[in-house]
Amino acid sequence: MHDAAFDAVGIDARYVLMEVDEQEAMRVVAEARGPGWLGLGVTAPYKRLVSALCDELEDASLVMGAVNNVVRTDDGRLVGINTDALGFRAGAELALGGTLQGAEVVVAGAGGAARAVVYAALLAGAARVTVANRTLETAAQLVAELADVRPTRPTAVALDSPALAAALRSADLAVNATTVGMVDPGMTLDVDALPGTATVFDCVYVPAETPLLAAARARGLRAANGSEMLIAQAAAAFERWTGVGGMAGVMREAVTPLLADPGARA
Ligand code: NAP
Repeated sequence: MHDAAFDAVGIDARYVLMEVDEQEAMRVVAEARGPGWLGLGVTAPYKRLVSALCDELEDASLVMGAVNNVVRTDDGRLVGINTDALGFRAGAELALGGTLQGAEVVVAGAGGAARAVVYAALLAGAARVTVANRTLETAAQLVAELADVRPTRPTAVALDSPALAAALRSADLAVNATTVGMVDPGMTLDVDALPGTATVFDCVYVPAETPLLAAARARGLRAANGSEMLIAQAAAAFERWTGVGGMAGVMREAVTPLLADPGARA
């Protein structure tokens, strides 16, 4: 989708995929200071490692402790940014058909995606944010680190706890930000506990329809996967690298067939 955007605006550049170990990741980051580079996209498990290698971190990435993109300045400095939070907000508000302001949000997960979801929900003025994770200590750490973003403090609970069930009963938005549904089978949230007005959002985008989304739709709830989050975060990064905004449509058109049939990438 990045290449489609480069082509659409006539920029002679390519988004190159690299599978790297930690040493190679550090070498690539050093190389990206060179004049041929606009920046980098970063994915798991290097979002924290790369943040430590940048010369400067913008607020969102500082608070989240992770970068998902790096912008190279004209003088070869690397600025770490995080566009996952604004990507989530765009995707979630599209799914909700409204704003996150005043919403009661339940998030499953406490990794990088969950950090972005919680940060975005707090910044958008959510009325309540409950973070449920398999490993309760990780959720507690996330909540402690993001406690001062807004006066509304997020709460950490364990998956399958009575506290999670209680939060789901009045939730406006239930979000899966774990790898369940993509890596492990099953689902993290009980859609039967949600009110009929709730929206379910899954950060996972492959497969397009996770068991969680299927269960939500079977109950007649609004439901969306992470594809719009993916497109919005990518379009925001593209704008930072090139100065050209408004590319989400081109990127969506390019990526939609690949998400529908991941094998088509080969
Ligand atoms: P991560 O940092 O590795 O975190 C993984 C999370 O999943 C942890 O909270 C972990 O819980 C939980 N988990 C893993 N296996 C589980 C299981 N069997 N049961 C319950 N919980 C389990 O991963 P991430 O980077 O946050 O990514 C999470 C998902 O979001 C991925 O599927 C990724 O593709 C997606 N994502 C989407 C976008 C987008 O643009 N749409 C952006 C970023 C990420 P523990 O702490 O207990 O291990």
